[in-house]
Amino acid sequence: MHLSKIIKRFRVDKPGKFRLSSIDPGDTCGLDLDKDELRERIAKDVKRLSERQEVLYAQDRWAVLMIIQAMDAAGKDGIVQHVMSGVNPQGVEVHSFKAPSPQELEHDFLWRPAQRLPERGRIGIFNRSYYEETLVVRVHPEFLDKQKLPAGLAGKDIWNERFKSIRAFERHLARNGTKVLKFHLRMSKEEQRQRFLDRLDQPAKRWKFNMADVAERARWDEYMEVYEEMIRETATEEAPWYVIPADNKGFARLLVAAVLDDALDDLDLQFPKVANSPELQKVRQALLDEGMPKKVAKKKLVVKKPAE
Ligand code: ATP
Ligand code: MG
Repeated sequence: MHLSKIIKRFRVDKPGKFRLSSIDPGDTCGLDLDKDELRERIAKDVKRLSERQEVLYAQDRWAVLMIIQAMDAAGKDGIVQHVMSGVNPQGVEVHSFKAPSPQELEHDFLWRPAQRLPERGRIGIFNRSYYEETLVVRVHPEFLDKQKLPAGLAGKDIWNERFKSIRAFERHLARNGTKVLKFHLRMSKEEQRQRFLDRLDQPAKRWKFNMADVAERARWDEYMEVYEEMIRETATEEAPWYVIPADNKGFARLLVAAVLDDALDDLDLQFPKVANSPELQKVRQALLDEGMPKKVAKKKLVVKKPAE
């Protein structure tokens, strides 16, 4: 099956009925590529993405925002690296969202991401995002306490209110020319165990191991519940969620690149058309003249008519 068909299977189109358990983290849709085949496909993807990104940049109208949310060690960094390898760094911005700073806590929860939105013509990647406000903050109410909300505004309705704010924010972005694509990398708990063990066992990977990640792992089921509700509440037509099976890193990378490629294709991007105006022709003539020995410049020059 072609990838552009496969990605539709992982887009959440019926949010009210969505269940995380409907996506098998180990699924590869029968596309079990070996390392060489994978490398080849990735090289192809990157080339196509970089061509499309150049047009996005030149056209300077649309922006693309990719949001990546996942448990620790699900491969967020690898996805960012893969999608970005080969594209012009000037057209891409990556932002990682950690616990908010004291200054950020003085503002509402959408203030921080609003300042990091991609400009027109750019692809912005949020490695984690404002969705943490309905995930880690929900699992850890003590984080909410730090947010200095007035009494009465941090009650049990707060998560619904946040979902509403997020839907409105993303609709606003869509109306103003930002294409929002959201990815949840769905990894199994067993795969995370293996990856943590790898980090501990391999000296070169040990720096990635973080004690806090183990504490979050212990709350796996709570996280799965809040992820599911978050996706159900915020999957919209203008800002869809893709739930990507992520136990196989190569497959996850191919899928995310395919979603991005498909979205860029839908935007019908085109290089700006610049007419060959008399001014441009004059400049061209002057440049041609500059390259000729002075005496013959005027007499011998046969100017080829430039293509329209
Ligand atoms: P890595 O793959 O390198 O571990 P990471 O995204 O997990 O990357 P860390 O620095 O380990 O980066 O962790 C960032 C932490 O910040 C995460 O535990 C995340 O839940 C937390 N965080 C992000 N946004 C918020 C927020 N709004 N409030 C509280 N914590 C947040
Ligand atoms: Mg981490």
